[in-house]
Amino acid sequence: MNILSGLSYEQIYVINSIKKICILKNIDAYIVGGAVRDALLNAKVRDIDICVTKDPKLIVESLEEIKEFKYYSEFQTASVEFKRGVSIDIIRCRREFYPEYGTLPKIIPSDINHDLFRRDFTINALAYDLKYYKLIDLYGGIGDIKNKLIRKIHSNSYEEDPTRVFRAIKYSIRYKFLLYDRDEIISCASKGIFKTISNDRIAKEISLLCTEKNWKDAFLLFARLNIFDLNCNLIGKSNPVVNYDHVNIRLLNLFYSFKDKRDADILVDNSIMDSDLKKSMMQLKNIDVENFLKETIDNYEIFRQLKNMSRYELAYLSWNFKLTYKIYNYIYNLKDCILCINGNKVKDFGIKDGKSVGSILRYIKKLKLNTGIEKDLNRRDIQNALEYKDRKF
Ligand code: ATP
Repeated sequence: MNILSGLSYEQIYVINSIKKICILKNIDAYIVGGAVRDALLNAKVRDIDICVTKDPKLIVESLEEIKEFKYYSEFQTASVEFKRGVSIDIIRCRREFYPEYGTLPKIIPSDINHDLFRRDFTINALAYDLKYYKLIDLYGGIGDIKNKLIRKIHSNSYEEDPTRVFRAIKYSIRYKFLLYDRDEIISCASKGIFKTISNDRIAKEISLLCTEKNWKDAFLLFARLNIFDLNCNLIGKSNPVVNYDHVNIRLLNLFYSFKDKRDADILVDNSIMDSDLKKSMMQLKNIDVENFLKETIDNYEIFRQLKNMSRYELAYLSWNFKLTYKIYNYIYNLKDCILCINGNKVKDFGIKDGKSVGSILRYIKKLKLNTGIEKDLNRRDIQNALEYKDRKF
């Protein structure tokens, strides 16, 4: 089976240039992982990983048409960006050991067999030998692609690296494949395996899941596999204020769907996610949403309560159906309301005391926010303002 036919002309050109150097330098080279999987699925191949049996530096030093490259000596990995717009990671074949569950693995250079064994799922443990044009499938990955299954390769895989649970969910929702290890994942989740990894690693995987087209299915799987206790009715809840095209709104929706807000610490306490979003989530943990704004219909009061809120806080509050149209009204009608008059104009009417000037301006603003009217100021308005300044609408 030739997987190269599924790649673009530019990708094939670059792969061939790497292959030529490898043959000259007696290095074995294999396309591995997602590129092989996606080519077999007839899906668009984005990132290409090539595993090699010597230090990738030996290849990069002979490559032409490189735009930029980074070399990570600790992992013997080179990330190369070519002028043709193709990016390729060249990685030394390796064996991995986990000194403790949940820690990062120790790496020892090795051959392609060990390199495939270290991988997460059978569908990702496929290699395409560039010298002999043949597929290497040691764990039944091709069969699992045909049968639409996500299946781990080695025992204790999920305990060893709990991020694989999130990765399994990612592939399952992306390709609509079944989780072969479903029962094991549920059992691992109930044993608390996620406690062995940092919030950063979990937040990274969740953020990646949120970039998937079927992100809502991922959240539903979180609930079904007991990874998080979620209120499924709230997942992907739509209203005229929220726009789920933004990944941060999807993350916020997960935060909103947690039954116990203490679970949300993963989303709040990490260094991966957007700091404005995390700050908003912190604030929201302390708001009593049920009572917030529920009673008032005074636009000025609504304006006052919401004016310091971030767009994330507003989106979050809007999921409460009692608040949706108040938030909508604030965003589209109240937020940008500017008065034509200012303090100087009030003073022209002989009002000198700063407090009274402030009260009059507030009254005019209340009037404008609640009626939409702001006419040129006259003495009568001033009198009304002073008389009714503290009245509620
Ligand atoms: P995507 O299309 O989501 O980018 P990918 O397969 O290219 O999918 P990467 O995260 O780029 O995924 O990883 C590249 C390869 O490295 C995977 O195909 C898999 O074989 C291996 N891999 C990545 N993360 C792990 C992990 N936590 N445990 C084992 N193998 C992993």
